[in-house]
Formats: sequence, structure tokens, C-alpha cells
Amino acid sequence: MLNLAHIRSQFPILTREIHGRPLVYLDHAASAQKPIAVIEAQREYLMHHHSNVHRGVHELSQLATDAFEAAREKVRTHIGASSTEEIIWTSGATDAINLVAQSWGRAEISPGDVILITRMEHHANIVPWQMLAEEKQAKLEVVEVTDEGVIDEADFQEKLKKNPKILAIIHVSNVLGTVNDVKRWTKKAQQVGARVLIDGSQSIPHLAVDVVDIGCDFFVFSGHKAYGPTGIGVLYGRKELLEKMPPWRGGGEMIDVVDIEKGTSYAALPHKFEAGTPHISGAIAMGVALDWMNGTGLQSIGDHERALGAQARHLLSDVEGMRFIGEAQERTGVVSFLIDGLHPYDVGTLLDQMGIAVRTGHHCAQPLMARFQISGTIRASFGAYNTMQEVDALAAGVERASRMLR
Ligand code: PMP
Repeated sequence: MLNLAHIRSQFPILTREIHGRPLVYLDHAASAQKPIAVIEAQREYLMHHHSNVHRGVHELSQLATDAFEAAREKVRTHIGASSTEEIIWTSGATDAINLVAQSWGRAEISPGDVILITRMEHHANIVPWQMLAEEKQAKLEVVEVTDEGVIDEADFQEKLKKNPKILAIIHVSNVLGTVNDVKRWTKKAQQVGARVLIDGSQSIPHLAVDVVDIGCDFFVFSGHKAYGPTGIGVLYGRKELLEKMPPWRGGGEMIDVVDIEKGTSYAALPHKFEAGTPHISGAIAMGVALDWMNGTGLQSIGDHERALGAQARHLLSDVEGMRFIGEAQERTGVVSFLIDGLHPYDVGTLLDQMGIAVRTGHHCAQPLMARFQISGTIRASFGAYNTMQEVDALAAGVERASRMLR
């Protein structure tokens, strides 16, 4: 059980008001709020330790480098990777997927090759592959999703017969909450020779992840959805693959020797993929965010959010014309819904007037919206700091908004 009063006291933003009402923040899936430990870690670093990393012999540069590399080690342990050489800092999940598409993809994808994604991907795990497919005259294939919002097993098997070179798959859907059995899908895809990239943006804040146990080749996530800062994220890649992949961005930090005449040789992993000055304070604070999640208890956080989600569905189902999108057995707490005859945007705007922050629209998953023949949903998503009272406020707010709009 989480000590909610204690948790909430660590999130300064939760005491603020919106439109004169107490903030009810139900948009964790878009970005998490930050505990004071994360905010303070950035401040502390900038106040006392800042310098550029890997560059100086001076004391501050050493301190900054040590803290930056210690954060990388925290990420490594958190996701069970074998070595920090496999942990690349990126600016976020989007950046990490683009890195794989552009580095691995440009080297490995040839005309006619198949790139496999699913219908429930976020645009971040669609568009980079579309761009690569266009450039290489490769083919983008899509595994369909059932009415319940789970991966269509038969279609998956069918698509595997096309011998994809890579499967890029979301771990937890930001719209449906579906938790995909990525270990199983990884195994199946690898049996036909595919590499597997997992988009863990919505799993890292809610579930324990072990990349070695899953067996994937690449795993990506953003810091800001896991109580960390914006502008920082991670690419995990198996060392053997990363070693073979060409660098993507060129510049300082990623080189060994630069010689105009003889050409440039590149730094060893992980720096080969980290051109330019990184987001040092972001990485350090992200390490603190992982500490915060582990200290609070990931299992308890996940259980709490699922209880909030279940109660939200229970209360919202009393609202006339309610329709939920996403009925998978294995789900996180996120709740996506529509109300017959009402536009999600109108409901969201009225909720905002009541201080309740939810997300409305396509949630960067337009192909999934098309599958359900809808233009968008209203989405309530939960973090460790949300309460049952906030779920009550949501249900009462939605009821009130739907009466006002009818
Ligand atoms: N994948 C999923 C499943 C997401 O929910 C998001 C963020 N909404 C992203 C990728 C992209 O994350 P970022 O914008 O932090 O790169």
C-alpha cells in the first residue's frame, strides 16, 4: 500500500489551483509530475557541480562526469542490462527510435525488406519506420488489433511469414493500456530472424522491466513519463548490435581521432552514439527519478494505478452513452473513453474548467483511432500520486460536463 499523503507531499505542483479549483492531474501518460527529489537533484547539480562531461581534467568536470556515468549505471540496473555500454542517452523515446531507424535501419534494410509494427503504435514508433521504408523502398507491414484492443494473434503469425527484418512494438499502449506480452512476441519474431525494438515509454513508469529476460534487441523510453525531466531518454541496445551499427549523429564526444585527410575513427560504446554535449542535469535527475520509483515500490505503484483505473471505469460506466476503448485483460490504469454524441474536446474543456486535467484527441495514435473509426478519446491516466478522491472528482466532472453538453 502506498502512503499517499506522504507521496503527494513530495510533488509541489499538486498543491496548485487551476481556474480556482484544486488541480486534479490525470494526464500522467502525457507527462508525469516531478517529486521534489528530482527537482532538487537538477538544482543541486546546477548550483554546485555543473561542468561539461568527459572533457576536462579539472575537478568539476570529473564530478559532473562521475554523476552522469553513475546515472547511466542506475538505468542499467533498473532495466537489467548487462553493461553500461548498452545504455545510450538520448533526448527521449522518439530520438531513440530515430537513432535505431537511421543507424541500424540504414545499414540493414534493403529494397523489398519488411519492417513490422502494430496498429497500436504511437506515432514515434511509426513515422521513423515509414521514413526509412520510403528511403530504402522497403515495406511497412502492420499487425492488426482486435476489438478488445489486443494484438491479433492470427494476424501476427501471418505477418511473421513475410520474414520481417525488424519488429517495432509498443510495450504498453498509451491509449488502450494494453500490456503486450513482449517476451512472447520477441521470441516469435526472433525465430523468423527479426530484430525486435520495444517502445517502453508507457511501461517504465508502471512495471518492472528486464531487457535480458524479455530478450529484445532494443528498448527505448523517455525520462519525463517516469517522474524524470524532459529532454532525456534512453536507448538500450544489445552490445553486439550497437558495436556493428554505424554512428548516426556526428560531432564531439562520439569520436576517437578526427583527421581531415585520413578520416575519423569513432569512440567506443556508449559514446559513439552520443554526439555533442548531453543533457547532463537531465540524466542525473533521471537516475534520481528511478531511485524514487524503486524506493516507492514499482509493484505498489502499478497496483495502485490499476485500482484507480478500475474504480474510474466502474463510476464512469454510469454516465449515459459511455463507451470505453481498450478492454484487454492485461492493462495498466489508463482509461480511454467516449460519450455518445459528445466531442471529446468539449468534455475535456469543461473538465479543465473544473481543475481536472485529462487528455483528449488522438493521443499520437491516429492509425489506432482509424481502426476504431473514431477521431479521438478522452483519456484519464494515473500516477503514484493520484487518489480515489480524484477518481470521484473525475466521474462527477464527466457526469456534470455531459449534462451541460446535452
Ligand atoms: N511512445 C509512447 C507509447 C508514448 O506514449 C510516447 C509519448 N506520448 C512516445 C513514444 C514519445 O515519447 P517522447 O515524446 O517523450 O519522445
